[in-house]
Amino acid sequence: MTERTSPYPLGLRLAGRRVVVVGGGAVATRRVPALLDAGADVFLVAPELTPALRSHVDAGRLHWARRRFAADDLDGAWLVQVAVDDPVAAASVSAAAAERRVFCVRADDRAAATAWTPAVTRSGPVTVAVLGGGDPHRAMTVRDAIRELLGARPSPTRTTTVDEGAAAVAPGAGRVALVGAGPGDPELITVKGWRLLTEADVVVADRLVPGLLLDELRPDVELVDASKIPYGPSRAQEEINRILVDRALAGKVVVRLKGGDPYVFGRGGEELLACAEACVPVTVVPGVTSAIAVPAAAGVPVTHRAVAHEFTVVSGHVAPDSPDSLVRWEHLAGLRGTLVILMGLKNLPAIAATLVAHGRPAATPAVVVQEGTTGAQRALRSTLGEVAHDVAATGLRPPAIVVIGDVVSALTPDG
Ligand code: SAH
Repeated sequence: MTERTSPYPLGLRLAGRRVVVVGGGAVATRRVPALLDAGADVFLVAPELTPALRSHVDAGRLHWARRRFAADDLDGAWLVQVAVDDPVAAASVSAAAAERRVFCVRADDRAAATAWTPAVTRSGPVTVAVLGGGDPHRAMTVRDAIRELLGARPSPTRTTTVDEGAAAVAPGAGRVALVGAGPGDPELITVKGWRLLTEADVVVADRLVPGLLLDELRPDVELVDASKIPYGPSRAQEEINRILVDRALAGKVVVRLKGGDPYVFGRGGEELLACAEACVPVTVVPGVTSAIAVPAAAGVPVTHRAVAHEFTVVSGHVAPDSPDSLVRWEHLAGLRGTLVILMGLKNLPAIAATLVAHGRPAATPAVVVQEGTTGAQRALRSTLGEVAHDVAATGLRPPAIVVIGDVVSALTPDG
């Protein structure tokens, strides 16, 4: 339709409904999280995927057809999002969609689209969607003003002062912020982290970063996918460091967005050193770490009066008997407090056995929480002696946190 007529706004209720996404690049990476959040049955057609999209496939959140688009992909679809650069390929999707009366969003050509995606902001149950009459920048300016009215997040336009970590830097000079994105729920980023994100020219994001945060970025923001999938495709840390430094030296405001807190098993220190070596100013914005937030989301406080006066956060990614292990598991076994293990699923049988062998009672309560603070959260309660077996039996997957200690049953009625 032409731009002389005004668009008709709707809130699509996509739960369980098939939505086809054509393309597996940066645009699709940004569009898919909001579709998944709406509960859509996402069918992705693309010969190649970004690592972030691949991790959605691996986690079983969407279906992937590894090939080019075919018209009958749209059979049974309610909506199609075209996220390819090739205008001929995009036009063939449009034609198939029109034939089937399926609304078609086109990232490449808004005039050829039958539906437009608005600039969006979310605040709890409220979703605000703004269409700018053909001008995406107008839509985003209005959206930013509404976001400020909603009160949850200060507007970037009002807080243009350079923040303290980069106080000596002239405005307009490039800089890097290492920002913790929180454990999964997009509302668990800090106010400061959110502000810097809205000011960024370049965002370098991890796999564990909540996708909905990326949904609100301006389309001209360069989004670099730094996903490092365990035992899968990975981009070397040096390459990430190089991107941060190069973009900042080119005058860009770079946000390195990391799951949880940047300094908790996040390699934030290495990135800080790389920037410092290149004389690039860096700010570190702490995040809500999954080590504390994920147990909380499953009803487990990491400390509790008269139950635990300490908690220890440890990485389980190296096997206890490996010469590379920096953890003295036999000493941890002698602690009475809470043990929070990140990246520990693969080595859980060996870890649990080592703790029991060195004196932690097998009956100690344990809980494993997968994808904590997100809509996909799963929790499994067990004991130290049984937990490895129970995880295998229920098929829990990373990202997951294991909590061992009496706090696990501190807030349960029969605990
Ligand atoms: N810097 C991050 C941790 C990075 S290590 C933080 O502070 O939270 C990655 C590990 O964190 C995962 O393997 C998993 O053990 C844990 N993790 C992160 N987010 C999680 C979530 N939402 N649910 C469960 N575990 C999570």
